[in-house]
Amino acid sequence: MVWALVDSFAAQARAGLGAPPFLHQHIGTEHDRHLVIGVCTHGDEVGPLPAAVALVRDLRSGALRFGGRLTVVLGNPEATRAGARALDSDLNRVFVDNPPDDREGRRARALKPVLETADLFVDLHQTGQPTTEAFYTLPYREQDACWARALAGARLWLTRPWGQAFSPGTCCADEFVRALGRPGLTLELSQKGLSPATERTATAIMRRLLALVDDDALGRRSIAAAAQTRPELSFLVTAHREPFGDPLRRLRPGLSNLQPVLADQRLSPADAPVVTSPVTGRLVFPTYPPRDEHGRVTGPLPGELFRVVAELAGHPRDVWG
Ligand SMILES: [Zn+2]
Repeated sequence: MVWALVDSFAAQARAGLGAPPFLHQHIGTEHDRHLVIGVCTHGDEVGPLPAAVALVRDLRSGALRFGGRLTVVLGNPEATRAGARALDSDLNRVFVDNPPDDREGRRARALKPVLETADLFVDLHQTGQPTTEAFYTLPYREQDACWARALAGARLWLTRPWGQAFSPGTCCADEFVRALGRPGLTLELSQKGLSPATERTATAIMRRLLALVDDDALGRRSIAAAAQTRPELSFLVTAHREPFGDPLRRLRPGLSNLQPVLADQRLSPADAPVVTSPVTGRLVFPTYPPRDEHGRVTGPLPGELFRVVAELAGHPRDVWG
């Protein structure tokens, strides 16, 4: 199924403007805005892939219209075929000045000229573990906030003050676009994998994006006006990062992103070292790395075991200025 989708995307990309198999380009005639939509930047986050294939098919057939320039990026089809997040390096960390000379590094080099001309970039991701709902994750800036709210891809925004890197020394694709002064959003849709619900959500988001960009570019409705028609987002900030520590530490199975946790609540199973959350909030990014028969992590140790986020006390505009 996933291989057929990757093949279909590549065939449409080639039949289009002769782009490489990881890019589909559409050139409209009504305005010159360039919208870039990313899927599978992490290879195994395939949920929005069917929606991306349908989008390029419908644009090519004329069933769907877009007045500007659209590039749909299938970030890492080689990893997607392998069922892996990445092959050599995490593609979403190597949009740096000198990407590594490996497969993801070379892909980042190829994608940078596309992202450099983007007027808006929306990267659709999925979480490793289940999530109670979709959420945006990016620092707060007014122009990004405007698009995030107008797009209404999620009600929650896991945010941080502008200028604070997601992971110091690295650069995500959306960070690369924001650093050029243009809006770039990352949206975590659901737990990784194909599902009819994620396909429907991704399809709706892509179609809303096209309409929002057309309306804004053609003067029919500004993005600020469109944002006002949608509810304000709820803002969550990191309250605690739990270092991974000992390779024997582990979380009990089945923890979800955004599930409530209480201070001092035990998050490890009875037969493992005690792990608790020091704060009350909502759990995000619980990690479950592969382990040996003694319960010891086998690969590289993740930096964090989990994070806890909490509601920001006020609007970011007021709290951070
Ligand atoms: Zn991802």
